[in-house]
Amino acid sequence: MRYYISITLVLFAFLFFFGCGSENPKSKKNTNLAPEEVSVDKSKTVSDITLDRVMGKFNPPTDEKFTLIEAPYAGREDMYLHKETYAAFKKMHAAANADGIKLIIRSATRNFLSQKFIWEGKWTGRRLVDGGENLKDSTPDPEARALKILRWSSMPGTSRHHWGTDIDLNAFTNDYFEHGEGYKVYNWLKANAHDYGFCQPYSEKGVNRPDGYNEERWHWSYMPLARKYMAVARQQMSNEAITGFEGSSTAGEIDVVGKYVFGIDKACH
Ligand SMILES: [Zn+2]
Repeated sequence: MRYYISITLVLFAFLFFFGCGSENPKSKKNTNLAPEEVSVDKSKTVSDITLDRVMGKFNPPTDEKFTLIEAPYAGREDMYLHKETYAAFKKMHAAANADGIKLIIRSATRNFLSQKFIWEGKWTGRRLVDGGENLKDSTPDPEARALKILRWSSMPGTSRHHWGTDIDLNAFTNDYFEHGEGYKVYNWLKANAHDYGFCQPYSEKGVNRPDGYNEERWHWSYMPLARKYMAVARQQMSNEAITGFEGSSTAGEIDVVGKYVFGIDKACH
């Protein structure tokens, strides 16, 4: 009997000195987590954002996370934003207003289907680009045609406008933001938007941003939320997932995910 007690004591002493000491803080922290929580540890903070949401496959008007943009803020009816983006935008709008700057949302959330309508309009020539060019006639090569559309429009499934985090403000030309009222608006946004969580993802192209869309001074993104969508995109989105519209087979050759989804200003990462 005494022999067994001694063996047990030695065993306890061994476990105490070596068992506890070898456990690193990370594994200790996860001890009480369910197995699935441990295995998806990296995505825990973005668990409510599915790949379908990232790719715009949902209906903003009936989605509980989204809200209609009210008249004082909107340039037209029937535009929606994620509630968190909208709350942040209203604060920025009030601060701008106090400084004599008027901000108007021209476009907000667009889901996969509305982006497909825009994309296929340009792809088929139903919608002319650059003041009258029919891309179907002028650009028969699929990859070249897709690249022309991508100067200004996203492929369905890859737009930040799917997320409810991104807005187009005041006017859709860089020229507007270079003179008079637009110049003041742009300077105000550059100096202050960051304080409200917004940044300009499509900044001037160059060494710091070699890939992606052309500069869009009107497009602003609510980063606290957009970062979560980007994290899911990084983990789960591939060029192969981009299907379901005319010209989608060009996504892989172009590397739309790598160059356009992630081809944003460094300050917005
Ligand atoms: Zn935009």
